Amino acid sequence: MQGESSAEPTVLIVGAGPAGLFAACELVRHGVTPRIVESRLEPHHETRGTALQPAVLELIDRGGLIEPFLRAGVHIKQVHLLGPGLTQLAAMSLADIGCKYEFQCSLPQWHTEAILREHLASLGVGIEYGTEVKAIEDDAAGLRVTVEAGGREEVFTTSYVLGAGGAHSITRQSMHEHLAGDTYGGRYIVADMKHRLPYQPECGRVIVGAEGFVLVSPLPDERWLIFVNRDEADTRSELPSPAELSELLNRRAGVDLGMYDLRWVSYFNMHMRAAERLSDGRRFLLGDAAHLSSPMGGEGVNAAFMDAADIAWKLALVVRGAGKPALLDSYAVERGAADRHVLEVSDEVHKAVMELVAMCRSHGTPTLPPVDPEKGMATVRRRSMLDLSYAGSALVGQAGTDAEGPAPGERFPARHRLGGSGHHLIVFGEAPHLDHLRTRWDGLVSVVEASSEGFDAPAAGVPDGGAILVRPDGFIGFRATPLNEATMDALDAHLASYLVSWSH
Ligand SMILES: Cc1cc2nc3c(=O)[nH]c(=O)nc-3n(C[C@H](O)[C@H](O)[C@H](O)COP(=O)(O)OP(=O)(O)OC[C@H]3O[C@@H](n4cnc5c(N)ncnc54)[C@H](O)[C@@H]3O)c2cc1C
Repeated sequence: MQGESSAEPTVLIVGAGPAGLFAACELVRHGVTPRIVESRLEPHHETRGTALQPAVLELIDRGGLIEPFLRAGVHIKQVHLLGPGLTQLAAMSLADIGCKYEFQCSLPQWHTEAILREHLASLGVGIEYGTEVKAIEDDAAGLRVTVEAGGREEVFTTSYVLGAGGAHSITRQSMHEHLAGDTYGGRYIVADMKHRLPYQPECGRVIVGAEGFVLVSPLPDERWLIFVNRDEADTRSELPSPAELSELLNRRAGVDLGMYDLRWVSYFNMHMRAAERLSDGRRFLLGDAAHLSSPMGGEGVNAAFMDAADIAWKLALVVRGAGKPALLDSYAVERGAADRHVLEVSDEVHKAVMELVAMCRSHGTPTLPPVDPEKGMATVRRRSMLDLSYAGSALVGQAGTDAEGPAPGERFPARHRLGGSGHHLIVFGEAPHLDHLRTRWDGLVSVVEASSEGFDAPAAGVPDGGAILVRPDGFIGFRATPLNEATMDALDAHLASYLVSWSH
């Protein structure tokens, strides 16, 4: 039955997984309340994507939500690679990675979603469960959306749709996009269980052997998430019994893991896939709707958070009339490149594990060469998602001379010291036209005098003085150095390329 058109929301979020929920939290923080629909009748209770990477903890912190995550999760400070019989082959530590959070925070995905949902509820934003989006069509007034809830159909028009519906996204289908790429060979099992090895929860482990691998990653309450490859010949569709799974794990690890209290188990495939276009200007694809990476990299759910944070600040500015459409164009450019990087890093981890398995099969326990400390740190930062850069985007620029230090497009190192949801302009020295700039971008850009706030010029990338524009996501949007009329005018023109000034 066709219902009456209801009030028109400006932003519709399709799907209340991590991507949709965090996008909603961030949109509200930036001053826009979306409508969120979810086809499930109620929240799920699956463990799935667990480890939140340091770079994502920073984003969650900016969103004002870090405390419940830190309370609920275990802090993984190291990852060990073990060979047959649990002999240690290599270790990776997250110490000194150049981030406020030198650990992954691990908790079941259902709990992550519960924290986000409770936050939204505390802000008065509810999720419409049992509401499935059936169609999204172009319309003169925006996008015409058909949803079905309890057997009733509702049709309404919305200005923007955030497609966070996961791998089978209706939003992506409505854009005639598909997830291009490959599915990795092999079949895999993921489970949430306890084991009897004397392992501390600060450390994740990957065990490789001739028959395959077991990934053992800590969860709260002395529980563990495991991934294991199935036997090649095992093509059954029914899930393994606890005894069968325990036997499989022991064979892979070469020791008795003592598995017990199996709580959740699922088969899954691993992919390396992405949509070519993340947006058509009104629809935006986030999370699994946009890309699928091997969970061996532990970045899938993290990339969903990053997509959500990125579109939220941009869309909120546009919806509030303070941003030009160019701002929205940058989502596909910036997150498209970042998401491809996620796929590459996850692929690198996936292949490294599979190569070790092949080495175990052909030569027994492999010996790994010592890692150069500098290269080792670059690897840890890459896997912690701290190497992200938006250089090359139209939202990133510079004027004046090149300088050592963080480049435009990279994370501003002291980003955790900048509160609020707007841009910050940190000025190191006497800047011409500063009052004009302050007035012109009032309410959008907060001017910070570096000397009175104790910011360090060399660490900020302006050893000879200058101005650093930090975007709402904590990335460097523009660097002007040295301070003079030409560099400050260029900075002003950069802001004017995507923001709408209240005063001219
Ligand atoms: C079995 C399994 C194991 C996994 N293990 C790991 C892991 O160990 N590590 C890791 O990093 N990642 C893992 N993942 C992936 C991780 O769960 C995803 O990356 C993450 O959930 C992506 O979040 P999302 O919000 O983009 O999508 P989802 O979490 O898939 O959320 C999408 C939501 O949209 C809803 N929806 C879909 N279509 C519609 C519609 N038409 N209308 C309304 N609502 C709709 C769905 O019901 C769903 O709730 C696993 C996934 C699975 C399935």
